[in-house]
Amino acid sequence: MVRFTVLASGSKGNSTVVSGGRTRILVDAGMSCRELFRRMKIAGEDPTTLDAIVVTHEHQDHVNGLSVTARKLGIPVYFTEATHRAWMRWLTPRRQMTYAQWIEQCRRQAADRQAESTEETEPEEPDADSGSDRPSALKDDPTWLPAVEYFEAGRPFAIGDLDLSPFTIPHDAADPVGFVFSSEGIRMAFATDLGYIAPNVKAQLKRVDLLLLESNHDLEMLRDGPYPWSVKQRVLSRVGHLSNEAAAEFLSTGYDGQAAYVILAHLSESNNLPELARVAAERALEGRASLLANRLLLAAQHEPLSPICF
Ligand SMILES: [Zn+2]
Ligand SMILES: [Zn+2]
Repeated sequence: MVRFTVLASGSKGNSTVVSGGRTRILVDAGMSCRELFRRMKIAGEDPTTLDAIVVTHEHQDHVNGLSVTARKLGIPVYFTEATHRAWMRWLTPRRQMTYAQWIEQCRRQAADRQAESTEETEPEEPDADSGSDRPSALKDDPTWLPAVEYFEAGRPFAIGDLDLSPFTIPHDAADPVGFVFSSEGIRMAFATDLGYIAPNVKAQLKRVDLLLLESNHDLEMLRDGPYPWSVKQRVLSRVGHLSNEAAAEFLSTGYDGQAAYVILAHLSESNNLPELARVAAERALEGRASLLANRLLLAAQHEPLSPICF
């Protein structure tokens, strides 16, 4: 069974569960672990069956609950190398360490972890009064993860029964990516946090059964809205976020119309209204929407979408 469940979408947190065959992955962990688990339960997803977390980029709304969630579940995290490095810098801004030193530290920690797990200690237990500083040193390092795997944009890879095709998106992060996930012949595209639809992105969004696309802001609302000018410039830039107008432009002229579901995502709470995003996309789809094709859904910030099953 192929399933796609958006748990949250927007500048306060992003997370989606993608399932195919026996594999389940979390795409971004942008909320606290507790909140992610709460939403998974609401949506009928079991957190303990997750196999991995995949990270699109290091912005806070995509990684807020990353370490705690990965540690609690003991599952690997997939990043590009540049995103991993940027994430670590964000967590430890004052640490003076070369990358080589850090790699060495990771090796040591992995060895420690191995030794620790053979002792069957409970990893999440606080151990303030324990004489040994080894386990607490592990927990004190905010960048520690059970396992880290690297992927590269442009190089497809697999996690269990899911195939992932990561592609570069234009956004102001170290090495941001979108994905096409596929399993059992079903293809699902995931593209948020992009300043514009670059040609490589357009190519990736073809022949998909599900298209999740950013529809971040209404241009007029952003222009007249509360953000300082510098932030408005950032959002509007080629490495910012996709407007309703730009998403609609793609849906009317660049999109092949083949998806069963089109999900508008990463809507701004300050500079957009769900109805504005919906109307812009509906106009762009021009009667191509039906129960079988181009069914339009809006991903929300505060509640999960019902799972989409294929
Ligand atoms: Zn974001
Ligand atoms: Zn971002």
